[in-house]
Amino acid sequence: MNKHAAHFWEGCAAGELRYQHCAACAALQFHARAFCLRCGGAKLEWRTAQGSGTVYALSSVARAPTDEFRALAPYVIVLVDLDEGLRMMAHGAPGLCIGDRVRAGFFVHGGRSLPRFDKS
Ligand SMILES: [Zn+2]
Repeated sequence: MNKHAAHFWEGCAAGELRYQHCAACAALQFHARAFCLRCGGAKLEWRTAQGSGTVYALSSVARAPTDEFRALAPYVIVLVDLDEGLRMMAHGAPGLCIGDRVRAGFFVHGGRSLPRFDKS
C-alpha cells in the first residue's frame, strides 16, 4: 500500500472519508495519488467528506475477486456521488437503488475498516 492510500485507510479507521483537493486547480480526487489527475500539480491537500451522497450506480457481486471478500458474497458495490462533488466506490447496504440518498458508515473486515453506504 502506498503512503497516499495509507492516509485514506487511516481515515476509514477513524470513521472519516478522506479525499484529495488540488491547491492549484481545485480538482477533487478519491483515489489518492502523488499528483493531480487534472493538472499534474503536486500540491494536494487532504479533506474529509461529510459522508452524504447519492447512489450513481451499483452492482451485486456474487463471485468475490479475492478470498478476503468471498465470505461477504453476495454483496453490493456502489458508486456514490458525494455532496462535495466527487464520485467514490464503496460497499453498499442491500436494497439500495440508483438515486437513493445515502450516508457513509464503516465496517471492519479482514482487519481493515471499510466504508459502506446505507440509506440516509
Ligand atoms: Zn490540479
